Amino acid sequence: MSRPQMLVVAAALGLAFSQTVIAAAETPAASAVLAGNPLATASKLPFNYPVFDQIKDEHFAPAFTEGMRIQLEEIAAIANNPKPATFDNTIVAMEKSGELLSRTQTVFYNLQGANTNDKMDAIDSEMSAKLAAHGDAIYLNPQLFARVHSLYQQRAKLKLDAEARHLLERYHKDFVRAGAQLSDADKEKLKNLNASIATLQTSFSQSVLKEANAAALIVDSRAELAGMSEAAIDAAAAAAKAKGLDGKFLVSIVNTSGQPALAELTDRNVREKLMALSLARGSHGGEFDSREIVLKIAKARAEKATLLGYANFAAYALDDQTAHDTKSVNQLLGDLAKPAVNNARKEAADLQAMVVADGATFQLGAADWAYYADKVRAQRYAFDEKQIKPYFELDNVLTKGVFFAANKLYGISFKERKDLPVYNPDVRVFDVFDANGKQLAIFMADMYARGNKQGGAWMNEYSSQSKLLGRHPVVANHLNIPKPPAGEPTLLTYDEVSTAFHEFGHALHGMFSNVTYPRFSGTSVPSDFVEYPSQANEMWAVWPEVLANYAKHYKTGEPMPKELLDKVIESRKFNRGFTATEYLASSLLDQRWHQLTPAQIPSDVLAFEASALKDLGVDFAPVPPRYRTTYFSHSFSGGYAAGYYAYLWSEKLTADTEVWFKQNGGLKRASGDWYRNQLLSRGGTDDAMKLFRNFRGRDAIIEPLLERRGLK
Ligand SMILES: [Zn+2]
Repeated sequence: MSRPQMLVVAAALGLAFSQTVIAAAETPAASAVLAGNPLATASKLPFNYPVFDQIKDEHFAPAFTEGMRIQLEEIAAIANNPKPATFDNTIVAMEKSGELLSRTQTVFYNLQGANTNDKMDAIDSEMSAKLAAHGDAIYLNPQLFARVHSLYQQRAKLKLDAEARHLLERYHKDFVRAGAQLSDADKEKLKNLNASIATLQTSFSQSVLKEANAAALIVDSRAELAGMSEAAIDAAAAAAKAKGLDGKFLVSIVNTSGQPALAELTDRNVREKLMALSLARGSHGGEFDSREIVLKIAKARAEKATLLGYANFAAYALDDQTAHDTKSVNQLLGDLAKPAVNNARKEAADLQAMVVADGATFQLGAADWAYYADKVRAQRYAFDEKQIKPYFELDNVLTKGVFFAANKLYGISFKERKDLPVYNPDVRVFDVFDANGKQLAIFMADMYARGNKQGGAWMNEYSSQSKLLGRHPVVANHLNIPKPPAGEPTLLTYDEVSTAFHEFGHALHGMFSNVTYPRFSGTSVPSDFVEYPSQANEMWAVWPEVLANYAKHYKTGEPMPKELLDKVIESRKFNRGFTATEYLASSLLDQRWHQLTPAQIPSDVLAFEASALKDLGVDFAPVPPRYRTTYFSHSFSGGYAAGYYAYLWSEKLTADTEVWFKQNGGLKRASGDWYRNQLLSRGGTDDAMKLFRNFRGRDAIIEPLLERRGLK
C-alpha cells in the first residue's frame, strides 16, 4: 500500500507544491459499481499511462469510495490472518494492497494540481477527511500493528535482504508515528484531529489559489503598464477581456510575494498597487481570507504532536527527517539569517543609489526592489533579462538543454510521441530510453501557466517504479511559464530555465528508481533530502557545454555571445542577499508557527508574523518573506509543514555535490553513472545520509554552501 508520500516538487528558491502519490499492486477486481469506469482497471497503455481521454470528473468519487472499501477488505484479511505474521503475508501484502485507491488518488491529485475545476475541488474537499480516516483505519488497527511489531522485534532473525529489512523498519516507524501505540481514547482524539487537519489544509490550498486569481491587478490604460513588453500588455488586455473587462488590462498574481511584472513596471504607483495586492492576500477580509484557517491548522497540528508525545509539531515532523530536531534547524537558519540580512542591506544601499541617480527621492520599498535590481544588474553586468530571453526558447531549453545534459551524464535519450492522450493540448509526452536502448520511462512536460493550475513548479508521477509490482515510471514536470500569444515563441527568463533543470532533477530521481518496494520508489525520501537531486541538476543549466548547445537565438540560431554568457553566469552572484533573506524569513516563520504548543497559538496572525520576523532579525521591509503566512502553501497545505527549511538543508548537499562533479571532470558519463548508481537509483531504500556518503565518500561539509550563497 505504501503510506501516502508527500512527493515533491519545487523550484530553485522554493516554488513548490506537493502531491500525494501512492503506488500499489494487483488486487481483487472492483465491483459492479465501477462498470464502465476507466479507473476500475490498470490502464492498458504503455507503462500504465493514464487514459486521460476517457477519465471524467464523475469517475473519481465512486473510484475513491470503492478503492477505500477494497483496501480495507485487504487489510482486514492481512490483520486477521490466522497464520503467524511473516514478512510476505504482512509487509509485502500491505505493499500490494490498495491498487484501485492508489491509481485513483494518483490521477486525481496530479490533475487537481495541474488542471482543476470546481467539480474536482468539491471532490477534493469531500475526500480529504475520508482519506485521513481511511489512513487511520489502517495505521490504528491494533491487530495489524501487532503483526508489524512482532516482525519488527524478530527482524534480526528474519534473514531479510537490506531493502526488505529497511522496509520493515520503515513500516514500524510509520505505524508508531501514526499513533499505533496510543490508548484507544487517544486514538479517537487523533482520528478527529487528522480529519479536521485534512479538511482545513484542503480549504487553505483552495483559498490560496482562488485568492491569487481574485487579487489580479486591473488597470484602465496601456500607459499604466509602461515598461512591460507590447506582447505582455496585449496578453493583459486579453486576460481582462476573458473576464468580461473589455478595454481594461489584467496582470495576474503568482504565488510568491514578489511578482514578475514588478521588475518592469516604470510607474511606481502601479508597482506599489501590485505589491500591496500580493502582500495582502489571505488577510484583508472577504471570502478567501485564510487567517482563521491558519490558526486552526496550527492549533490542530500542535495538539496532534502533543498527543504523540512531542513538544510541538516541528519536533514531530523533524524527527522523521535527516535534520532530526528543531535545535539543528533553528541553528542553521539562525546562523545564516544575520549575514543574509546584512547582504540584503548592502544591496538595498546600491539600489537606493540607483533611485537617487534616477532623480527620485523616495525610500526604496518592497515594490521597488526588482525594478532597481534590474537596473543595477544592467549597469554592473551590462545586460538585462530582455537581452538574454531570445536565447532561452522553451523547446531549445528542454530538448537541447535539459535533455542534452541528461544524455551526456547518463546516456539516456528522448523521443516525443503524440499518440498518447493528454489532459491539455499543451502537454508534451516523451519516451525515455536508457543507454542500452531499453525504454526506461515516460516523461510528460506541462510547462505553461493556467488559471486552474497551482502556482510554482513541481514534479509528480502517474506511475512509480517498483520491481515488486512490475511498474515503470511515468513522470511529469509542471512549470508556470506564461504562454505567449499564438505564433509567438516562448522565451524564458533565466529563473525559468533554472526551474526547468531543477524539476527535471526530480524527474531523474523518479525515472532512475531501481527499487523493489513501492514504499521506497524514487523520490520517497525525507523531504529535507528530496530537494537535493533537483538542486544538483540546476548546475548543468550554466555548464558551458550545455549552454552552448541550447542557448541559441530563436530567430537567427546564433549562439549566445560568450561575453553575455559569462555575464549570465557571473550575475548569479547578484541579489543573493535578497534571495537568502526572503527565503530565510519564510523558513523561520514556518518553524515559529510549528514550534508552538497548543496553548501558545496566538489569536492575531499578522501580529504574530510581524513579531516573529522582528524577533529573528529578518524584518527588513524592502525584503518581505517569499511567502507570507496567509498564502504559505508549503507550510499550511500539507507537504512542507515545518519543512520549508528543507531547501537550504538540501542545498548543503547540493553545493558539495557541485564541487564533486567539478573535481571529477564535470559533464561525463562516468560521473553521472556513479551518481545514478550510488544515489539516484536507490530511492528511499536506505538511510539518506548513508546514500550521500556512499556517493561522496564522506559527509557533506558546509563551506561550499556558504560560498554559493555568498555568506562566508
Ligand atoms: Zn524541487
